[in-house]
Amino acid sequence: MKKIQMVDLPGQYKHIKETVDASIFEVLNSAAYINGPYVKEFQADLEKYLNVKHVIPCANGTDALQIAMMGLGLEQGDEVITADFTFAATVEVIGLLKLTPVLVDVEAATFNMDIAALKKAITPKTKAIVPVHLFGQCANMEAVMEVANEHNLFVIEDNAQAIGADYKFSDGTTKKSGTIGNVGTTSFFPSKNLGCYGDGGAIFTNDDDLAHTLRGIVNHGMYKRYYHDVVGVNSRLDSIQAAVLKTKLPLLDGYCDARRKAADYYSTAFASNSNIITPVTSDFSTHVFHQYTLQITNGKRNELHQHLLDNNIPNAIYYPVPLHAQKAYKDERYNEDDFTVTNQLIDTVISLPMHTELEEDQLEFITKTILQFVG
Ligand SMILES: *Cc1c(COP(=O)(O)O)cnc(C)c1O
Repeated sequence: MKKIQMVDLPGQYKHIKETVDASIFEVLNSAAYINGPYVKEFQADLEKYLNVKHVIPCANGTDALQIAMMGLGLEQGDEVITADFTFAATVEVIGLLKLTPVLVDVEAATFNMDIAALKKAITPKTKAIVPVHLFGQCANMEAVMEVANEHNLFVIEDNAQAIGADYKFSDGTTKKSGTIGNVGTTSFFPSKNLGCYGDGGAIFTNDDDLAHTLRGIVNHGMYKRYYHDVVGVNSRLDSIQAAVLKTKLPLLDGYCDARRKAADYYSTAFASNSNIITPVTSDFSTHVFHQYTLQITNGKRNELHQHLLDNNIPNAIYYPVPLHAQKAYKDERYNEDDFTVTNQLIDTVISLPMHTELEEDQLEFITKTILQFVG
């Protein structure tokens, strides 16, 4: 059996080495390191894949969130609601822009924003909602959009973990994750489902005016060279990363299938164990399994974490501390009773190795080791 990896980037690279290397060398030889042809080409390919009018490439997924919020004209004191159980980038940019983060609880079954908690958190100062499509499946976007329309709020989808997922509306129509709200953002961090070989990110929108604003913000607020109309940032996807992404985008659906196949193996193996809750896929979203996350309900999660490490099975606790309890984001406004699900998840969740290169003997070893321990 090959050594088990949490994410096997070299294993994935091996299959595409020739094409990726050729495109990288092409960039090296062309010297078009910034804004070279691959950036435009990848942008157009991604627009087509997502069926969205505008993709604005940028330097990383955190910048994408920040630029989206800047582009919507959110101002100091505006309240922005997001999930308590997610990676900190989402709330970080809210704080950085001096907006007021309002964290809400998530659903235990899907780890995504709880709609009742969202409704309860709305005040006259609320300006935007940031649903995070956590671990690879969409939040309940139909409900989020309904709340947003009723209260005239912007919706920014943090799609860093769910690129490639399809959202199904109750009328049967589908859209790609990240293209439902006013604006969507993603990250091409190497371990994401569509990862480059460094940092990268993108913003998507169907709104022509917003797209124009965003294109200026990523480029120092310039709409005409050396004329700075707004305060912007410098956030670019470099040509080498764009070349890698152009090669990998056609493979994304296959990568998602490989992840689903591994997830199916895990879920089948754990199905009848009463101490393990396997991930639930919602009716309204496909799941692209950025993470495969179990809930261990017998109080032995930490022991299992160590036992797996002792058996050379990498695993991780995403996330060990709720955002509302992080030093940087603590606030007297928060009431622990409003975070019962997050407070429980941080003690029960464990994420297993999940990537495109998992082999059956590895999956068998992982599931057997877990079942023997959990009993
Ligand atoms: C990875 C991630 C980000 C940030 O992306 P970077 O490219 O690392 O800046 C934001 N939100 C979520 C949910 C993420 O998983």
